[in-house]
Amino acid sequence: MGDPLQDQCTVIELASSGQVIEISNKISYFDGLASIVEADLTALSPDKIPVGWRDSDVHGELQFGFAGIEKNLPMVTGSARVTVDAVCQRCLEPMQFEVQIEPKLLLLSSEQSVDGYDEFEVWELAETELRPKDIVEELLIMALPLSAMHNKTADCKVLSVNDEGREELVRPFATLRSQMIQNEKDLI
Ligand SMILES: [Zn+2]
Repeated sequence: MGDPLQDQCTVIELASSGQVIEISNKISYFDGLASIVEADLTALSPDKIPVGWRDSDVHGELQFGFAGIEKNLPMVTGSARVTVDAVCQRCLEPMQFEVQIEPKLLLLSSEQSVDGYDEFEVWELAETELRPKDIVEELLIMALPLSAMHNKTADCKVLSVNDEGREELVRPFATLRSQMIQNEKDLI
């Protein structure tokens, strides 16, 4: 048995069989996503890089089918979520955030265009075949925040140490500040 996420399949095959694909893989399975996460984590000192970041589970499901009154437009719907390790851009400490996607895509060739399907996004197919994995991976990458930061003040080292002057806590001061905090810790 192949891996249905990994297998190349024609869109028509996937849609007409109503293929349901379970997603239950580690982040490391999605090489492109994993290399982005890895590059981000290199900002941490090696001892702070979360040991198991590659093993974080990506869970979800894709369902293929047809949309449209004539049921002739290949589509995929579903959802997936994953907890990603990252570096807080404010305090430069490790953090985690959840990425969730809920695709609702029409799988169309570049010549096709449709009106009246506003609830769908159009996924333009370069060829008639696709790898379901590529869709999941690309959507997860697009869903990554541009800049990750601790949500809660209490979690963020910079904000919890000094609640004043938040305005100036943007980079490039963050590096300096985390250094200062580290120095303070060393003094204790
Ligand atoms: Zn933070």
